[in-house]
Amino acid sequence: MSTFNVAKFGGTSVANFEAMSRCASIIESHPSTRLVVSSACSGVTNLLVELANGVQDQEQRTSVLQQLADIHEAILSKLENGAEAASEVYAILDTVTSLAEAASIQSSTKLTDHLVACGELMSTHILAQLMRERGINATRFDIRDVLKTDSQFGRAEPDLEETAQQAQALLVPLCKEQVVVTQGFIGSNQDGDTTTLGRGGSDYSAALIAEAVQASGLEIWTDVPGIYTTDPRIAPKAAPISEISFSEASEMANFGAKILHPSTLVPALRHDIPVFVGSSREPEKGGTWIRHHAETSPLYRALALRNNQTMVTLRSAKMFHAYGFLAKVFEILAKHKISVDLITTSEISVSLTLDQTDTSGGAPQLPQAVREELEELCHVEVEHNLSVVALIGNNMSSSKGSAKQVFGTLEDFNLRMICYGASQHNLCFLLHESVAKQAIQRLHQELFEQ
Ligand code: ADP
Ligand code: ASP
Ligand code: MG
Repeated sequence: MSTFNVAKFGGTSVANFEAMSRCASIIESHPSTRLVVSSACSGVTNLLVELANGVQDQEQRTSVLQQLADIHEAILSKLENGAEAASEVYAILDTVTSLAEAASIQSSTKLTDHLVACGELMSTHILAQLMRERGINATRFDIRDVLKTDSQFGRAEPDLEETAQQAQALLVPLCKEQVVVTQGFIGSNQDGDTTTLGRGGSDYSAALIAEAVQASGLEIWTDVPGIYTTDPRIAPKAAPISEISFSEASEMANFGAKILHPSTLVPALRHDIPVFVGSSREPEKGGTWIRHHAETSPLYRALALRNNQTMVTLRSAKMFHAYGFLAKVFEILAKHKISVDLITTSEISVSLTLDQTDTSGGAPQLPQAVREELEELCHVEVEHNLSVVALIGNNMSSSKGSAKQVFGTLEDFNLRMICYGASQHNLCFLLHESVAKQAIQRLHQELFEQ
């Protein structure tokens, strides 16, 4: 095992010169942190996604490109010796300009990944230079030489063996000499094409890199001092959690707690790497430790919210007392690589929600070809604008009275789907997006603020 930590800084942590300087201070005061994984500066990936989706209007395209230049120039102008970093950033901005023009004619997932990766490629040039100016012996490293993935552009999956090999050969020796600053979110496939791990993917990158170098710890530095009982933007009385288990935190991430990308804890769990989540703005406030076993395992731990859900309901009288129907449905979905998230069944129908975490954003869609194939089997109905709310805790399905307490609190809400009992760690339900925050606030008040 390596004796150093990997630290990830999110978009708001590297949003401007002052924010980046706070990251440098954190690195200075944590000498065991040798590998820094950085996101793009706040707002940059959104602008790049806009360009990648194809901005036809030349004037609008120029305005987006100008915003990108402004964000980076504002930081570069505060560096003492920023000429080299500036020329690297301008070269990347030139690439962005030509790719944006190409995307305005015809977009593709491969082009999108090439374009949106530019955010992290730029921020790391600047962050490494800023650290050097603070006296840190820092070097920038292109993670595409290490983080090898498949070719699912927009939601690429890592090749763990290849990534570990490259990390041991290239990164570990470098970290012994210098503090390495590298990109989150991006990787490359076997042909050397740039890939991305999906929106918010820098957390996942950092965990994969920590696993590949066998780091002793993973620090996720963000804009809140740790994981809270729910998103503090939704419920202002949400409270920080000082320690949480991998399973509870994984459930939170899976059910949309934006603080962690859903896959982040998979590599950390595989290698039992302790994870710390804290605020780069207020590091003195401490944060949350995610460990194999937490000291406490309360009945109710946290609430999570995931918007933009699509529910597909399949109905067929033939399903009644018949076998093989669900197998056929899943065969079709698997053939088209459609990942299913929640599912409930009745005698003649099955409702499921579609999973999507890719880079292009937006609600997951049921592709027309899949719909047509399913329609040969049954009636298909698709509903958008839904949200899933999840209550995360311990031993909920074996604890008397918790369902009554939860559903009693929600009696005024129209719940579209309920999943309860399959997991000891969560109870979740689907409802219309327009009332989801209200449901969280009501539940938080009842279960966490008494
Ligand atoms: P970063 O850019 O650092 O990756 P994100 O915006 O992706 O940061 O994630 C941090 C945000 O996650 C917080 O500002 C907060 O609004 C949101 N969030 C959602 N659920 C939680 C939670 N349970 N605890 C803390 N923050 C949460
Ligand atoms: N920059 C990417 C995004 O905004 C990845 C990340 O920040 O985690 O989605
Ligand atoms: Mg994030």
